[in-house]
Parts: sequence; structure tokens; C-alpha cells
Amino acid sequence: MSMISTSLSGPKSATSYCAPEFSGLRRLCPNNNTNNSHSPSFLRFTSPRKPLRRVLAMAGTGQFFVGGNWKCNGTKESITKLISDLNSAKMESDVDVVVAPPFIYIDQGGAFTGEISVEQLKDIGCKWVILGHSERRHVIGEDNQFIGKKAGYALSQGVGVIACIGELLEEREAGKTFDVCYQQLKAYADAVPSWDNIVIAYEPVWAIGTGVVATPAQAQEVHVAVRDWLKNNVSAEVASKTRIIYGGSVNGGNCAELAKQKDIDGFLVGGASLKGPEFATIVNSVTSKKVAA
Ligand code: PEP
Repeated sequence: MSMISTSLSGPKSATSYCAPEFSGLRRLCPNNNTNNSHSPSFLRFTSPRKPLRRVLAMAGTGQFFVGGNWKCNGTKESITKLISDLNSAKMESDVDVVVAPPFIYIDQGGAFTGEISVEQLKDIGCKWVILGHSERRHVIGEDNQFIGKKAGYALSQGVGVIACIGELLEEREAGKTFDVCYQQLKAYADAVPSWDNIVIAYEPVWAIGTGVVATPAQAQEVHVAVRDWLKNNVSAEVASKTRIIYGGSVNGGNCAELAKQKDIDGFLVGGASLKGPEFATIVNSVTSKKVAA
């Protein structure tokens, strides 16, 4: 699954202070000349005019990240409307927002038969790909090693990876949630040279497209375990820098409570990303991580 990034200067660069504006399928930053992309997170919420704001609950140091997974949905008409809604929505500026349109809507040129290459994605300006999504694992049959290999290759070409992990319902019920997630993480770790341009998406399969969202406590429990895994198996620095986002039936009504969890650094959104105003609400749930001092 390919993603159009809203970030202009590389997968990891911050889009702080960019007015959200989508042109075609890309969000543009009119002033790309920000010098704060490496600011520590506590500085991101400061402003000379507003009262000092601080991070309320954030274990990691990465900027809030929200991805819209449009999957195989949309027509020219509905996508035109969605883009227009996204362009007119008011969104917080300190969020990395990316959307993943179906291949044929990525650019004006005709349809592709079958797969698409990283080189082609790069060629039209994509900065992110979603890999390891449960539909690729469980419908198409991609295994951990194959997904890891794809991640390694995408990164080698300078394309950022939204690396999905997550357990099936029967695996959760059998008490195997952590084991499954750790195996999936290990396959990425074995294949990637660096975690710089990776965002981990924890998406319990039983929550994807079902309307059954994980409770904030259930999601936090796995997110903190993922961060610990990174700390123990990669490094403390990677554990703190890597965004761990949650996906699975996130909507405008449940995002705020989820966003308050310390180890939830954003969302990967399917169904609700097809509704511009609701997606904007999810992007803006970053505000529930902040509090006026
Ligand atoms: C997804 O497909 O990545 C997803 C999270 O879908 P939904 O939000 O519809 O559950």
C-alpha cells in the first residue's frame, strides 16, 4: 500500500507550522523553511502568543502521526470531495498527516496492473508505504520475512515505512498477543538497517474494520510492550524516537481517549479516513495530549 506523505522534506521531517493544504493528494507546506524539525517535543507546543503548553502524556519523543488508509475505496467523484473536505478542514499544525490512496488514484496517469514498485512510487512523490497490513498478511498471504524484506527495500530507496503489526482474535484469546507482535517486530528488525524512517502501527486484526475498537488500556498495554521491546532489542534511543500508532476502528468519537495514552503517538485510520471532517477530528486529537500550563 502506498502513501502520499504530507511531509515535504523526507519521511521523518516534521510538518510543524505548515498550514494543511492538499493539492491533488498532497498536503503542501507553503513555508518549507522551518528550522524546528529537530526541536524536542516539549518545544513543539510553545508559541510566543499563546500560553505555554506542554505534553500531557507522551512516552516517546516523536511528533503525533495520523495516517488515512483509503484501501481500495473511492471513485473520482468521492475522492474529489474528500480532498476538498480535507483542504477546507482546520487541522492542528503539529501533526504528521499522510493518506494512502488506491494506486490508480495516486496520479493522473492510467491504471497499473497488479503490483507497483517503490521506484514508481518515488517517481510520483510518495514518501511513505504501509507494509504488513493484516489484509496483506491474511488475505494475500505475505509472511513476516517477506514483509521485512519489503520494508528493508523501501527504506533503502528513501521511502518511509508504516510497519503494521497485530494479532488475530484467536491469538489474543490464546494469550499470544505479545509473542505475535514480537515476532513481527523481529522480522522488521532483522531486515532494516535503521529505524529512522519507520512508524510502527499496532493494529489488532479483530479491531480492523469491525467497529470493535481496542480499549485505551488494551492499546496502551501493547504499545508500551512494543516500546520496551525496541528498548531491549534495538536501543533506548530508537524506543523513544519511534512513533507507535494505533489502528483499528478509530473514529471521531473514540480518538481523544486513545490519544491520551502515553505510548499512543497517533493513528492509522481506515473507514473514518474516508470522511474529511471526521479524519480532521482524529488529526486534531493531538490536542488531548496537551494541556495549558
Ligand atoms: C486499517 O485498515 O488500517 C484500519 C485501521 O481500518 P479501520 O479504521 O476501518 O478499522
